[in-house]
Amino acid sequence: MKRLGVFCGSRDGGRESYGSLARELGKSLACRSVGLVYGGGRAGLMGTLANSVLENNGDVLGVIPKFLCRPEVVHKGLTSLKVVKDMHERKRLMYDSADAFAVLPGGLGTLDEAVEIINWAHLSLHQKPICLLDVDGYWSLFCEFLSTTGREGFSDLGDKGLYSVAEDPGQMLDLLL
Ligand code: AMP
Repeated sequence: MKRLGVFCGSRDGGRESYGSLARELGKSLACRSVGLVYGGGRAGLMGTLANSVLENNGDVLGVIPKFLCRPEVVHKGLTSLKVVKDMHERKRLMYDSADAFAVLPGGLGTLDEAVEIINWAHLSLHQKPICLLDVDGYWSLFCEFLSTTGREGFSDLGDKGLYSVAEDPGQMLDLLL
């Protein structure tokens, strides 16, 4: 695995544990020489994650749409930054550049990306591993709802095991590697 795609909040969220998880993932990536591809933001968990990879001499590719490429949003110190036309192009480039995906706590943007990447796996559009990185049970209601879609006959998610849940970024990466 050369590069992990990560979706996470452009805000910090309300708990110290979210930032700690982002920092730990960043360090774990750099220590294993696995690159990061993410949304290119400087704020919130996105910024914390990117800074942690960079501080540990890792490689970070940011992909940001033109309309978000403002000084208060974009991270200017990344290994490389690609400015793309719109959100669709960003998602496509992020998905193509990653060998696997991790989802950290986040808001609507993160949910959108998590659902889409799981749905694309469900549609067999890719076979890349997906892991929800959980802390303090942030993803438990989401997982419960995903199970509901299977239980109520609207998906085969239960049988297919299209995503996993982990709490330890290092262990997750070791499994992926
Ligand atoms: P959210 O979870 O709503 O904070 O959105 C974060 C996700 O949506 C990230 O994975 C990004 O790909 C995208 N995104 C939303 N807001 C921004 C932003 N200000 N800068 C960069 N990416 C963002």
